Amino acid sequence: MDANELLDAHELSLVLSEAKSVVSELPPGNQRTNLETRIREIENKLEAATARVWRSLGFQLHDCKNPPALILWNESIGAHVCENCGHTKKRAHATNVKTRYNPFSRSRR
Ligand SMILES: [Zn+2]
Repeated sequence: MDANELLDAHELSLVLSEAKSVVSELPPGNQRTNLETRIREIENKLEAATARVWRSLGFQLHDCKNPPALILWNESIGAHVCENCGHTKKRAHATNVKTRYNPFSRSRR
């Protein structure tokens, strides 16, 4: 079993959100600052793990931040859009290549 199968990123982010809430109730000081730093580090690791799962599932990622952001298809504009920065990536169009080859030419018969 892969470790990613055990992780549910959404549930983990809810747990982290709860931990942040608890830490915010501590009086200001070194202990609170250290815990806030540790939680940010855990959030970054969770985002990196989530990005690896997206990549392994075949989703496109945008390198506008680290860990990278997810790029999802938006049907209404007909393009892939980065969820972080809004960068759009149009689907590649077929190019019109000029060639002398004519599939209906008599010379080939
Ligand atoms: Zn982006």
